[in-house]
Amino acid sequence: MLIILLGPPGAGKGTQAESIVKDYSLVYISTGDILRAAVKEDKELGRKAKHYMDQGSLVPDELVVEIVKDRLKDPDCQNGALFDGFPRTVEQAKFLDEALPEIGSMVDGVLLIEVDEDELIERLTGRRVCSKCNAVYHLKFNPPEVRNVCDQCGGDLYQRDDDSIETVKERLEVYKKQTGPLISFYKDKNVLYPVDGNEDISSVYKKIKAVLDKL
Ligand code: ADP
Ligand code: AMP
Repeated sequence: MLIILLGPPGAGKGTQAESIVKDYSLVYISTGDILRAAVKEDKELGRKAKHYMDQGSLVPDELVVEIVKDRLKDPDCQNGALFDGFPRTVEQAKFLDEALPEIGSMVDGVLLIEVDEDELIERLTGRRVCSKCNAVYHLKFNPPEVRNVCDQCGGDLYQRDDDSIETVKERLEVYKKQTGPLISFYKDKNVLYPVDGNEDISSVYKKIKAVLDKL
């Protein structure tokens, strides 16, 4: 099964992905996580991408497509994958359409998680992420048991550089302009499943499960 999580920054894609990959045994592919790891390790990819990420812009399609091409070559992707944060432009979606038949796969469903803008801003500015395992927390909505310590692996939590209020506003604009067109792209292919993401984490997951169980 190949599933795409679509939705604005802060919609809860990464949070819901943690449960989806466990319950459906899917390989998790987050281009954001891959890019942040490349920045942290000072790889060439990270050096090329950092400037765009800091500004809240999209990293150029060529770079992102290369990352996904490489990842799809790994044998674990043969059994299906969950994409988070990819594709983010129509160009990237077209690339995926061409690449998937090569691994005998196709897009089974695109879950569009929709959340009101005020809520997105509150979620993003209060987000904390584990520096070791990338688990996602929120100061108010999903705090760890011990302050600043990951429940799952004991790693330190940090605030992403691009979760400042100025960059968050830019990222929301970028989503509307550059990623928004993917909604009709996938609707036209009859694989789009909108989910109201405004409710609490477990209620949203129940709705996602209801969609995935029917695919
Ligand atoms: P995305 O991957 O779509 O950018 P995240 O999963 O990182 O979003 O979630 C953004 C922030 O909102 C995190 O701090 C997360 O803990 C919190 N969050 C996620 N889903 C919900 C929800 N349904 N209700 C409240 N907070 C949420
Ligand atoms: P995310 O972790 O999904 O919020 O992504 C963080 C940042 O990484 C984005 O603001 C972009 O700068 C970059 N990024 C992640 N995925 C993509 C993508 N598919 N296309 C372009 N840029 C991306």
